[in-house]
Amino acid sequence: MLQYDYLVIGAGSGGIASARRAALHGAKVAVFENRTIGGTCVNRGCVPKKMFWNAAAIAQAREDGEHYGFSVTDNQFDWEKFLNTRKQYLQKLNTIYQNNLENDKIDFIYGTAKFTEKSVIECNGQFYTAPNILIATGAKPIPCILPGSELTINSDQFFELEHRPGKVAIIGAGYIATELASSLHALGSQVHILIRQDRLLRKFDASIGEHLTRRLEEDGIVIHRDAGIEKFSGTDNNIVIEYQNRVELVHKKIEGFDCVIWATGRVPNIEKLNLPGVGISADPYISVDKYQNTVVNGIYALGDVTGQAELTPVAIAAGRKLAERLFAKKENSFLEYENIPTVIFSHPPAATVGLSEQEAVNKFGSQNIKCYSTAFVNMYFSPTIRKPRTFMKMITTGPNEKVIGVHLVGEGVDEMMQGIAVAVKMGALKADFDSTIAIHPTASEEIVLLK
Ligand SMILES: Cc1cc2nc3c(=O)[nH]c(=O)nc-3n(C[C@H](O)[C@H](O)[C@H](O)COP(=O)(O)OP(=O)(O)OC[C@H]3O[C@@H](n4cnc5c(N)ncnc54)[C@H](O)[C@@H]3O)c2cc1C
Repeated sequence: MLQYDYLVIGAGSGGIASARRAALHGAKVAVFENRTIGGTCVNRGCVPKKMFWNAAAIAQAREDGEHYGFSVTDNQFDWEKFLNTRKQYLQKLNTIYQNNLENDKIDFIYGTAKFTEKSVIECNGQFYTAPNILIATGAKPIPCILPGSELTINSDQFFELEHRPGKVAIIGAGYIATELASSLHALGSQVHILIRQDRLLRKFDASIGEHLTRRLEEDGIVIHRDAGIEKFSGTDNNIVIEYQNRVELVHKKIEGFDCVIWATGRVPNIEKLNLPGVGISADPYISVDKYQNTVVNGIYALGDVTGQAELTPVAIAAGRKLAERLFAKKENSFLEYENIPTVIFSHPPAATVGLSEQEAVNKFGSQNIKCYSTAFVNMYFSPTIRKPRTFMKMITTGPNEKVIGVHLVGEGVDEMMQGIAVAVKMGALKADFDSTIAIHPTASEEIVLLK
């Protein structure tokens, strides 16, 4: 039995951050990982996705360039070359992560970890014990279980595709489905999205979903609403999708797809941990209190496996806070899960912080909130044929109009939101935005000019 101060299951965003912070405070730490160091973000999430988004942004800029006077003769995209560039970058990150653990004297154990007792982990036949054990095993795509599911791929497999799909169907309305759809469209694929209800991104402020759904349609993406998928058939190069329109109650059949991406959500990675064996239940996520404690003393969980704001910086921050509490005597160290800003990397991007309008109404009552919004054509589009609108919305509450939510859709909002989030976290009032001098000519100036 090998003895440690801290055992961390999962070398993803949360696990690595927590392990490194614990080691910094002198703890003897081991980290277990059964796939690739870096976890979802580095290997199958944020990083490859953002590179893909960047490539799509370049494709769009090249098209727009024509209207600015550039002669664009060859707009071909070499998917294979891009894949190699991306792989090299990810491998570089994997090496950096590995070196960081070595430098911090953290033992990295490659294999699947499982509990045998409350303070004992087994991995590759070796037993490890520690008074503190962290579960940071993340999440994975919900599998498709419909007939013909073998013709579909998930987001993990998408990042391994060796060719650009010609005609692709994406099933799902969440941010992963939305992001993949719009980048693929910008890179030249014919894209269809099938959603169960009437708009994308239902978990966000309704205006974000409405604007982005409209914008994607205007750009040429086909959206099938109210679609209850029934089955897939055909061949790899001609996949057929059958679905029922749940409102019109008509059966529909669409075909000719060479790629179908099942992106209906994610479920926690817990089945190999033997959680019932140590008295932890999950439904479907592991429940924790504000200190990331599970129901078992000495066992903690954070990141996607808990379903709390499933984002890399959230897992990192929660991991560091926990390590500070356990190993730096900061007894009241915990992460506040309010006002977490996030970006949807679609084309155009959307960005959000704070409460949606519906959440604000539920919390404060409709008579106690005020919404300001604007929609305008970004100057960037003055010479282009396409004239999409940027949308901005601010929600305030109380007589002093404290800003409690900001929701944006449009070019550049991905880089705008971080600064706005600082102001919201500090408790900024609408008057603080109003008294801030605008930066001209930008799209972001509209946020301080809202009336
Ligand atoms: C397509 C996509 C795009 C995304 N884009 C963004 C984005 O733009 N911005 C953002 O902030 N977030 C994004 N996310 C979410 C982000 O990747 C996750 O929130 C983050 O990775 C969660 O970190 P984690 O530490 O909880 O889990 P993970 O990073 O998933 O790490 C968990 C690790 O545990 C390992 N593991 C599981 N079980 C065991 C076991 N029994 N033994 C050993 N190892 C085990 C897994 O192999 C994995 O490596 C995206 C996710 C996806 C899928």
